[in-house]
Amino acid sequence: MPKMPQLGATLSSDITLLFLCHSLLEEIHKNSHPCRKIDYVRDDLSKVGVMDAGNQKSRYGYNGVLITRPTFYNILLSKVPKEKIQWGKRMIGLKQDEHSVEIECEDNLVVQTGEEGAAKPKVLFKGDILIGADGAYSSVRRHMYQAMKDEGIELPETDMAPLRFDSNCVVGVTEELTEKEYPALGNRSGDFYVIIGKERAIQVYLFTFAENRLGWQICGQMDKPEEYDEKDFRFSDWKPTAADELCEMVRHYKNPYGGTVGDLIDRTPKERLSKVMLEDKYFSTWFHKRTVLMGDACHKHLPFGGQGANQAILDSVHLVNQLYGIPSNSLADITKSFQAYYDYRSPNAKEVFKSTTMVANVLSARGFVSDMVRFVALGHLPEFINNLGMDGMNTDRPYLCFLPPPPGQGTVMPTPQAVPVHYKGGPMAAAVPVGDQ
Ligand SMILES: Cc1cc2nc3c(=O)[nH]c(=O)nc-3n(C[C@H](O)[C@H](O)[C@H](O)COP(=O)(O)OP(=O)(O)OC[C@H]3O[C@@H](n4cnc5c(N)ncnc54)[C@H](O)[C@@H]3O)c2cc1C
Repeated sequence: MPKMPQLGATLSSDITLLFLCHSLLEEIHKNSHPCRKIDYVRDDLSKVGVMDAGNQKSRYGYNGVLITRPTFYNILLSKVPKEKIQWGKRMIGLKQDEHSVEIECEDNLVVQTGEEGAAKPKVLFKGDILIGADGAYSSVRRHMYQAMKDEGIELPETDMAPLRFDSNCVVGVTEELTEKEYPALGNRSGDFYVIIGKERAIQVYLFTFAENRLGWQICGQMDKPEEYDEKDFRFSDWKPTAADELCEMVRHYKNPYGGTVGDLIDRTPKERLSKVMLEDKYFSTWFHKRTVLMGDACHKHLPFGGQGANQAILDSVHLVNQLYGIPSNSLADITKSFQAYYDYRSPNAKEVFKSTTMVANVLSARGFVSDMVRFVALGHLPEFINNLGMDGMNTDRPYLCFLPPPPGQGTVMPTPQAVPVHYKGGPMAAAVPVGDQ
């Protein structure tokens, strides 16, 4: 099983609603805290503003939650039959035609007996479809785009351009702490703080997790992002000193939960610390023949809006719905599913991509005008505008077409769902046709 980075994750109410269908909600609630607001403060703890999510339960039926990534991952993993997952296979090749798709993988689990550096054993998998859910540097995407080029299909220039970087990030989750040391742990609340650095474009996120740990995330804009190259980061070629430097810059910041940010860094075991590069990019080509992309592989969001995993999960529900009941494994039927998935999901993913980029700009920009924008945007917006923004992020609340719709929809109606193209069951509540069906 791969090592899981120690990142916290906020899951918004559209997603928590979804888990109800999978009877996972109870388990998630037991291991998470509801998140209703984010307090923004300066590095001396003076107040900048609040991002109030409003009454999500009454508006959308469920609250967004704050949960650690390994906890969430393990809950999901516990529901998947063991035999359905093969670990340690790295995809390195892709071939597809009218009839099937085949991938070649390096088998990283087979113990190497040969010389150091000898080629790893290869293994082939063949199937009807391939879903590329392999993250920002998707090997599936790379191979799919290359094949399209080789076939003379013109791709948009932006799809071929590298991902855009401008920030780096260090995240950690402390050892277990006591309520005596940090009384906020007793509040059982997922509301969290963001400290906005005064001199530099730095933000420090501070969370209280259900496991009596504090989570922290330091995001800092790079001085000369143009000097960095995508391939440098792909292989974690990020000097350890860069993480130390970022930590040193914020060590002295006061921690709203008590003490300083440095205290939390010192109480974080090395294995609970991760360094990540922050990049973003929206791709407009999502499928070709029998291969389709989802999640970060086709829309890599900056983490500032807490949307990346949410969007990936939404992709998966819509894709499953569009594949459900498919009458054959013909390329025509598969294309119909992929096209409907793309037509419905891509405009929403693109809108969310734009808003997360905007949030990042609002938080990172320096100077008087930026201070004023933050003052207005964080807590001084009229309630109806605030609600409009929240509604935009919470109205796509899909459910799986072969399960009963979940109760508790809230007062803000979800956007009509896409009609699954091959589904022959009863009519789904509030569904709209997509594509050319
Ligand atoms: C600091 C930080 C904080 C974040 N906070 C939030 C948050 O609060 N809320 C939220 O919703 N999102 C958040 N995100 C974003 C979220 O983590 C991602 O959007 C999400 O993990 C994307 O899921 P994915 O499955 O598409 O890709 P990934 O999680 O990247 O998974 C891809 C998988 O594919 C595997 N893989 C890669 N290449 C290959 C290959 N060649 N062969 C086989 N397997 C391969 C990888 O090992 C990995 O397991 C945050 C991100 C960061 C960096």
